[in-house]
Amino acid sequence: MLPRTALSKRHRDLYSKLHQLLRQPGLMRGSLVEMRRRCGKKTCRCHANPAARHASLYLGLRLNGRQRMVYIPAAWEARVREWNARYSQVRDLLERLSLAFLEQLEKRKR
Ligand SMILES: [Zn+2]
Repeated sequence: MLPRTALSKRHRDLYSKLHQLLRQPGLMRGSLVEMRRRCGKKTCRCHANPAARHASLYLGLRLNGRQRMVYIPAAWEARVREWNARYSQVRDLLERLSLAFLEQLEKRKR
């Protein structure tokens, strides 16, 4: 019988991917949403032409039960996109790991 802590190759691969991701800094939950808005300058062309509206990026997320939209300054966009992508990958790996262990339970495989 295998020791209880023995992991299959599949589990080990998932853990190793997870560790690789977690060694890199930055994780951010939420959905990136681009909004096109009019600015405060009444003479700006964004007021006349909807296509000329200014694009700004927000992170939409639920915090303490409330939906929030957090503005992402242009200088932060690349970093936040990277953190957000990493969060999704980590969440996806956690789900796959959990399913792998669930399968193990259902097969009564130690
Ligand atoms: Zn404008």
